[in-house]
Amino acid sequence: MDTTTTLTGAAPPACTVRNPATGEVLATLPDTTPVRLDAAVRRAVAAQRGWAALAPGERARLLRRFADQVDVHVPELASLEVTEAGHTIGNATWEAGNVRDLLEYAAGGVERLTGRQIPVAGGLDVTFREPVGVVGVIAPWNLPMPIAAWGFAPALAAGNAVLLKPAEATPLTALRLAELALAAGLPECLFQVVPGSGPVTGRALVDHPDVRKIVFTGSTLVGKEVAARCAARAKRVTLELGGKSPNIVFADADLAGAADPMSFLDNSGQDCCARSRILVQREVLEDFLALLLPAVETVRTGDPADPRTTLGPLISAAQVRRVASYVTPDLPVLARGTVPDGPGFWFPPTVLAPARPDVPAVTEEIFGPVAVVLPFEDEADALRLANATRYGLSGSIWTRDLGRALRLARGVAAGNLSVNSHSSVRYWTPFGGFGESGVGRELGPEALAHFTETKNVFIRTDA
Ligand code: NDP
Repeated sequence: MDTTTTLTGAAPPACTVRNPATGEVLATLPDTTPVRLDAAVRRAVAAQRGWAALAPGERARLLRRFADQVDVHVPELASLEVTEAGHTIGNATWEAGNVRDLLEYAAGGVERLTGRQIPVAGGLDVTFREPVGVVGVIAPWNLPMPIAAWGFAPALAAGNAVLLKPAEATPLTALRLAELALAAGLPECLFQVVPGSGPVTGRALVDHPDVRKIVFTGSTLVGKEVAARCAARAKRVTLELGGKSPNIVFADADLAGAADPMSFLDNSGQDCCARSRILVQREVLEDFLALLLPAVETVRTGDPADPRTTLGPLISAAQVRRVASYVTPDLPVLARGTVPDGPGFWFPPTVLAPARPDVPAVTEEIFGPVAVVLPFEDEADALRLANATRYGLSGSIWTRDLGRALRLARGVAAGNLSVNSHSSVRYWTPFGGFGESGVGRELGPEALAHFTETKNVFIRTDA
């Protein structure tokens, strides 16, 4: 889509895409103005009608072709993500493959999107799952490809058109994915990318009357605004927001597994599920730190394109300043890793030992390679600390006591927990947050259903 000028000819404000490892400017893209967005929505409305009318098997086949296109282009997409988001090449390759898998999984759901038949007197009662129409997906910069696909893959599979607004910092993979969709044979304008800033393009998408559902992933602050604007229009909304997830380590646990530094350092800590509050039973605190701290200090930071690198840069200079603001001089530093000299947006992996649990480093999402360690006494204390947050996205529970693991798994108020593991997200299991971490769920067996309206039809048979 041409987004270079408004209809009146005035150039809209532009966003600049930089390589976070070097600071180099990669591209400058203008905002999709409200006027241009309106035109894109109209095209999407028309495309959606034809798409929904296709036989389910045909839609599924086209989505599988889209998955095949992504598969062939995994190296290209991964390298684009290394350049625009600073992700390590290992992570970026996984992320591109995840888009392929999400499309395959969603394609498998098209012919299984069934309604129900409900017993009634005097007739037949059936339900249909109708597509909502045009869906707006607003994605963040931290995992641009997978999070966009969490929305667009099931939305398309359920018979909707999608407008994807990527984050200003990371629009390039989204634009490439839209090209691959066309190459796969998806109808023109069914899946459009509308680059631009949140306050201009994001708001216009949320406010547009013909966009019937918004899937927003981002900060809790902006998510609340999006929800309020959707509420004013009775628009469906799913929110995937921030987190401050605990890693709860009991004395009987596999301490080496629990002390994996990637539990909070993966993607340089720019991960909504990062286990950034490490809660350790006091009697094993020393043993645990003896495993964690050297591992943090020796993490290999550097060029994200080098396959040996485990930690890349942060997304921007602003994000470096934001992360640094939480590492205040009053907080004891237990470990600090190293970062490369020279240009780019770097912050060293850091472990803090706050004396009090009410400082911002403990209560707020840092979204960088920083964790806090807090000791606890017993199970009740661990649960109290774990739940002392407005968030509720994820968490790990490490213990060999099965009963305790289950009690904690039921007691921790979060949407995605793992026991004796730090894993969080699988495309075939549900994902979403408690509390201020979100509203609604994505992924899993219900993923397509979240992009439909249930319609009930009664057919009289006794006349
Ligand atoms: P933001 O909330 O700033 O932005 C997220 C997206 O919303 C971007 O595309 C942004 O556009 C857009 N946006 C900004 N303002 C508005 C607005 N007023 N109306 C509509 N859209 C708007 O978050 P970040 O990009 O900083 O992402 C990091 C956050 O995302 C973290 O808090 C993290 O926890 C959360 N997150 C949650 C996940 C989950 O699944 N729960 C997963 C990953 C991240 P632009 O940037 O172009 O201005």
